[in-house]
Amino acid sequence: MLKILLTLLTSVTVVLDNGQKYDGDLLVGADGIWSKVREKLFGASEATYSGYTCYTGIADFVPPDIESVGYRVFLGHKQYFVSSDVGAGKMQWYAFHQEPAGGVDTPNGKKERLLKIFEGWCDNVIDLIVATEEEAILRRDIYDRTPTLTWGKGCVTLLGDSVHAMQPNMGQGGCMAIEDGYQLAWELDSAWQQSAKSGSTIDIDSSLKSYERERRLRVAIIHGMARMAAFMASTYRPYLGVGLGPLEFLTKFRIPHPGIAGGRFFIQKLTPLMLNWVLGGNSSKLEGRSICCRLSDKASEQLHTWFEDDDALERTINGEWNLLPFADETRLLRPISLSQDETNPCIIGSMQQREDYPGNLITVPLPQVSQFHAQINYKDDAFFLTDLCSQHGTWITNNEGRRYKVPPNYPSRVRPSDVIEFGSDKASYRVKVTRSAPLVSQKEATQILQKV
Ligand SMILES: Cc1cc2nc3c(=O)[nH]c(=O)nc-3n(C[C@H](O)[C@H](O)[C@H](O)COP(=O)(O)OP(=O)(O)OC[C@H]3O[C@@H](n4cnc5c(N)ncnc54)[C@H](O)[C@@H]3O)c2cc1C
Repeated sequence: MLKILLTLLTSVTVVLDNGQKYDGDLLVGADGIWSKVREKLFGASEATYSGYTCYTGIADFVPPDIESVGYRVFLGHKQYFVSSDVGAGKMQWYAFHQEPAGGVDTPNGKKERLLKIFEGWCDNVIDLIVATEEEAILRRDIYDRTPTLTWGKGCVTLLGDSVHAMQPNMGQGGCMAIEDGYQLAWELDSAWQQSAKSGSTIDIDSSLKSYERERRLRVAIIHGMARMAAFMASTYRPYLGVGLGPLEFLTKFRIPHPGIAGGRFFIQKLTPLMLNWVLGGNSSKLEGRSICCRLSDKASEQLHTWFEDDDALERTINGEWNLLPFADETRLLRPISLSQDETNPCIIGSMQQREDYPGNLITVPLPQVSQFHAQINYKDDAFFLTDLCSQHGTWITNNEGRRYKVPPNYPSRVRPSDVIEFGSDKASYRVKVTRSAPLVSQKEATQILQKV
């Protein structure tokens, strides 16, 4: 803790709580969103609550599509979830939930609460929460501060969150603090060189004003973008059927979000420009700073194809495909591992495995399952399900909730999270693709957690 007792135009004195006193030519308040230095300079002011509390976690977890998708945002009503590959087999995630500030969890209760809040969300979300240790989950309410025009007085200035704390939606708060630091160092170094040349004293005041001028606009734009990203997340509401009242039936027509056309244009034309500007820093102003962190540095040539073609993106999945028993009250069913051997399809049926049968036969001992009910084969990086003219049929419920009958003798594409029923919902399985995640269904995961 520190107290600034005195600031003058050319020197500053800081007194710590323990009474220690420090004199200096310059004070930089880099003390975060609750900055004491800012309070001392401009008086106390409230930070703005974003309306969201945020749980963050880091897990030893490698999603099966890690090579093609490094960052994901999942939108829901009053909540959203972000996951990001942070390398070394780890994923970091942020779970945002709209609620009043100041909420507290029961001891060891964060994971349990998250599993409740995100119940029914897709595997990408649930698997990550399940794979995270309770101790690796942190919670904090999200606040920001509208950046001010003036960042300091005399030889005292502010840097980073102390002057422009922003919502984390763009992942730029820390980056802006680093850029501030770079610009400040550059300004002071220039002033020092100037004074060495001319033999005059270093003009700290002008350097700080120049630092402020250089940073103000850029930081304000990125701060605004971070707020806008939160706003955009909440405008998705009607597409989730929320707040439409009697018009809720409209969601059944799956009307595309009007933002999709704009979004395509944005992704194709504006995103590279925007990312170059946001991630590249204001490098033309900063001598010696190499231009780096451009989208093109890491992006695959396939990027545009993946944006437009879900199928192509899905074919990049590199994991083990399994059928996990779904809603299996009898506990008769066992998980089925699907083979990626194109020449050895998996046959599902009630027929008992026989020594003289050469194929890959999976026995599902239920009356509604025909002897040779269906076949699952792998081709061109994808799985296909064929109903073998079974008596009670085969159904797929896709992850949009649409249930349809698989036509006999015609291969139908199988996708992650599909639920497949062989003859009856008693013989139903959920498709789950894993890389390092535990081989359990969402329901089982919750049960395990309840027992722990
Ligand atoms: C959930 C979340 C996710 C985020 N994700 C990203 C991201 O992906 N990328 C990104 O760039 N940014 C991200 N940010 C923002 C980033 O964390 C902050 O913008 C950044 O840490 C600000 O740095 P700072 O140095 O200005 O302040 P801080 O990191 O808050 O540092 C201030 C320091 O000052 C110390 N301090 C405070 N008061 C005193 C005092 N009186 N005496 C002595 N010391 C004091 C504090 O202990 C602290 O160490 C995220 C933020 C959140 C909340």
